[in-house]
Amino acid sequence: MTVTAVDQALFSSLVPPRLAGSRCASCGTVTFPAQAGCAKCAGTDLVPVELADRGTLWTWTVQAFEPKPPYRVPESGFTPYGVGYVDLGEVIVESRLLGDPARFEIGMPMRLTLLPLWADPDGSPVVSYAFEPAGGAA
Ligand SMILES: [Zn+2]
Repeated sequence: MTVTAVDQALFSSLVPPRLAGSRCASCGTVTFPAQAGCAKCAGTDLVPVELADRGTLWTWTVQAFEPKPPYRVPESGFTPYGVGYVDLGEVIVESRLLGDPARFEIGMPMRLTLLPLWADPDGSPVVSYAFEPAGGAA
């Protein structure tokens, strides 16, 4: 079975999951998702960089209602989930968060994982990324 990324540009690798960012050759600023231009120094010489798959939880909130499309409600129905920012050291990444939001703490170690979104007509899973507590999802 082939796993497909919802957006290939997000990933440098799916197995194991790794996110693709970009680093400004002029000032060193790392961005995610990868950009064509640097927001900090307006440089245009950006090189692809693979981001760390572990970081710490910077802040988070709970998505308590269904987002607008293109969000698709899971077949099991909508349930509130965590969204937040994970500090990977070089860059802070906005991400879905897996696990029980009641157990999230600022600064807790997080690791990258794949988030199954839906299945293609042929049954292949389409995935995005998420972060989960490094101690294991609750
Ligand atoms: Zn720059």
